[in-house]
Amino acid sequence: MKAKASFMLMAIVSLAVVRSVDAQDLGPQFQKVKEGIYVYVGKEFNSNCGVILTQEGVVLIDSGHNPTDSRAILNAIKKLTSMPVRFLIDTEPHPDHTTGHFVFSPPAIVIAHEGASESMRSRERESPDRIQKMMTVSPEMRAALEGYRFIPPHIEYRQKMTLNVRERTFELMYLKGVHSEADTAVWLAKEGVLFSASAVVVNQYNILRPFVTIPDILAAAKMMKGLNPEVVIPGHGIPGTVKIFEDSEQYYALLLDRVGKMVREGKSLDQIKNELKMPEYDGWASKERIPSNIEAAYKAVKGG
Ligand SMILES: [Zn+2]
Repeated sequence: MKAKASFMLMAIVSLAVVRSVDAQDLGPQFQKVKEGIYVYVGKEFNSNCGVILTQEGVVLIDSGHNPTDSRAILNAIKKLTSMPVRFLIDTEPHPDHTTGHFVFSPPAIVIAHEGASESMRSRERESPDRIQKMMTVSPEMRAALEGYRFIPPHIEYRQKMTLNVRERTFELMYLKGVHSEADTAVWLAKEGVLFSASAVVVNQYNILRPFVTIPDILAAAKMMKGLNPEVVIPGHGIPGTVKIFEDSEQYYALLLDRVGKMVREGKSLDQIKNELKMPEYDGWASKERIPSNIEAAYKAVKGG
């Protein structure tokens, strides 16, 4: 009798710890992708945040685009569980994925790929008044920034890392040369859920910085497609399937083809920038990033 009573008590306690909540009760930006796995989908290509429940607490993937998002995410987590956020995995070090870390850490331990701290610190040096400026955006933003602290990663891994949190296993994989100095894909193999970072975006031109190469992006897309994920959650854009990779592969193939043709016609980079048309992608957002895409394609074609 005594054993049964304590078992029932344990059942009640565990019920109190993790609640079954429908995504719509968490707020309009939440999607439930699997049991215990939610995504806070950024509005208008703002960054996504993954919320993964475990029996040992919450694991977050990025911390929301702005601190206002981070606060909304924290409120939702409180509806889901009374357990803390144990780990926060950065898919990239850029401020639209990391400014809200202070909302969760401490107690969350922040994990990123090697180079993430230096990337974050150099941006802080470049714009020391960034947070002050952000506070002027709206009273809500000012309130959300209350208690702001700069939180670089506690742990920086190299190439690969496995994080076991009770019943879940997170495989962290470095994606070289795809977007930032430290991009990480997070793979939950048992669940078939992949967080694919900003290697490819959805219905949007990606920003291709000088150290980003199209062959690296295509290699990362191929590697991630090879994992055979059921659900793909990009760093920005609506979660989907491997079609997200296929759409990008098609786009880059067409871009490389057209730029290659123009290079063979003897055209200069500036001429190509002026003349190249990609009408198939008129519907894509962030057109100001097209020149950076053409530069990367030009380099790839020239073999540089
Ligand atoms: Zn970024």
